[in-house]
Amino acid sequence: MSEEKKVLLEVDHLKKYFDTPRGQLHAVDDVTFTIEEGKTLGVVGESGCGKSTLGRTILKLLPHSDGKVIFNGKEVTAATPAEMLALRREMQIIFQDPFASLDPKMTVSQIIEEPLKIHKIYKDKKERQERVKELMSIVGLDERYMMTYPHELDGGRRQRIGIARALALNPKFIICDEPVSALDVSIQAQVLNLLMDLKDTMGLTYIFITHDLSVVKHISDDILVLYLGKMVEMTDSDTLFDEPLHPYTKALLSAIPIPDASYKGKEAEVMKGEVTSPIEPPPGCRFAARCPHASEKCFQVSPEFKEVKPGHWVACHLFE
Ligand code: SF4
Repeated sequence: MSEEKKVLLEVDHLKKYFDTPRGQLHAVDDVTFTIEEGKTLGVVGESGCGKSTLGRTILKLLPHSDGKVIFNGKEVTAATPAEMLALRREMQIIFQDPFASLDPKMTVSQIIEEPLKIHKIYKDKKERQERVKELMSIVGLDERYMMTYPHELDGGRRQRIGIARALALNPKFIICDEPVSALDVSIQAQVLNLLMDLKDTMGLTYIFITHDLSVVKHISDDILVLYLGKMVEMTDSDTLFDEPLHPYTKALLSAIPIPDASYKGKEAEVMKGEVTSPIEPPPGCRFAARCPHASEKCFQVSPEFKEVKPGHWVACHLFE
């Protein structure tokens, strides 16, 4: 008998718009999905597609413009500051650039200890220090680095500090925002493996944000492709690589520099044209200006995000 999975995160018609002198910038525009406990959703798209803004809006680091986020039955978007403090223990983030996200004046030990102090989980410094040592060991950081500063460590070790800090409060859910993009390729694999091991041993649920489809493939159960704040395709990881439907997803796959074995021989899509402005975007499909299949209708009518095969969702007039 198959075990029924619990939905941990529900994102419901979420919007995040920014006011600019030229009008409203639609950074996240009507995004809806759920993630079951223990699963990883990869969120991919080019820089500026709204993926990092989506992550920050889900965690209420940015206020939302419309829609809802529900985590473990509680509405994050309606939470008071006190409720948010409690929710922060369960929902964490790992940032892209470990150097920029770590306070250079704090030692490794102080950085990892900080959330434990804020949330007053341990009764004294000695207990907190024991927890810091435990966390350093979990992420593979030697104890001798406790009193060092972030700038004295390499990128991989700095990212391990960020991971240890995110794990400090025993969260259920972590948003990994481009966690390996700033790292050398050789170190990327080590950090990805660490994240996958932690997910299994600690029963974590992830959103894994990246511009690089090749990074997200092995770590994700499902993948959501975003284009200028809109959801364009979502399905399980294998299907996305084997049978991509949306012309933008195909173009992203064609652009993977080292040909992925599973995508070899498939028809390449090439993007041409200018990227549509996300400020007061025109009606129609946001990808129309770059899409080789764009028709008149594509410039007039926004395609609906629909399930075109079981578990495979796409927003494109070609599949209506
Ligand atoms: Fe291309 Fe039209 Fe599909 Fe948009 S709706 S991706 S422009 S074919």
